[in-house]
Amino acid sequence: MSRMRYSSCRLVVILLVAAIVETPHAQTGKKVYLSVDMEGISGISGDDQLSPSGREYDRSRKLMADDANAAIRGALAAGATAVVVNDAHGSHRNIRPEDLHPAAHLITHGFKRYGMMEGLDDTFDAVIFIGYHAKAENPAGLFPHTGTGVVRDLQINGRSVGEGGMNAMLAAWYGVPVVLVTGDDVAVAQVREVATSAKGVAVKRAINVRAVDLEPLDQARRSIEAAAREAVASAKRSTPVRATPVNVQMQFKTTLIPEIVEAFPNIKRVAPDTVAYSSESMPAAYRLIRVLYRFINPD
Ligand SMILES: [Zn+2]
Repeated sequence: MSRMRYSSCRLVVILLVAAIVETPHAQTGKKVYLSVDMEGISGISGDDQLSPSGREYDRSRKLMADDANAAIRGALAAGATAVVVNDAHGSHRNIRPEDLHPAAHLITHGFKRYGMMEGLDDTFDAVIFIGYHAKAENPAGLFPHTGTGVVRDLQINGRSVGEGGMNAMLAAWYGVPVVLVTGDDVAVAQVREVATSAKGVAVKRAINVRAVDLEPLDQARRSIEAAAREAVASAKRSTPVRATPVNVQMQFKTTLIPEIVEAFPNIKRVAPDTVAYSSESMPAAYRLIRVLYRFINPD
């Protein structure tokens, strides 16, 4: 090898080493994950707004993007350099990309392993829940349910949780803090029982499971933006919570799904309407929860 070739090789090696050493520091901004549901979005109050067959549905798609965009503006103002939005309602095809902040990636379509938390991993610094609602059978809170309409109660490690609770537990597995939750006042309080360090913005007050007192839209979005800015600025990754096994118990509103899924290895039918299982990780437990409430259809 000539001397010149040797020194140019050495230069390449030095540059490569420098690039590898620099990579962790190159991205100083935070990576933020948004899971966006629909029932708890600003301005949404009726079930004709919640699915494509509803007369008011098209309005909701824009309202959903508007609340997400407020949180994205706040996150970016706090120095976020990557934002991923996961559409997490119904078909998971509600948010139109043309309505969404141009800085955000959009995960869309409901055929997902991890549903409301698809795409989350341990590279993120903060999770934000937008438009969340109270859990199944809650006597208050707008449109309370867990997953779909088939679940009466979901317990993870002996604790009854709704969607916010189970999603917060999955985030905790990856060491990613839930820093903000928005929705009606009942939903926000309920999610914060699990995600205890999260800020909350109630964009409406639930009078009961159907009637609400809506915050003015501009005010709601200003509150979301300000809370997201503060929450992302102070977000700190935490030690992953990885106690195993993860014990899941699901009570259904009828006996039909338990009748089918007791055939699954490791799923026990502990009551006519209730099944239980243990998983070796929270992602595995979560994935099966989703299969049980969404993809088993006895009708
Ligand atoms: Zn939901």
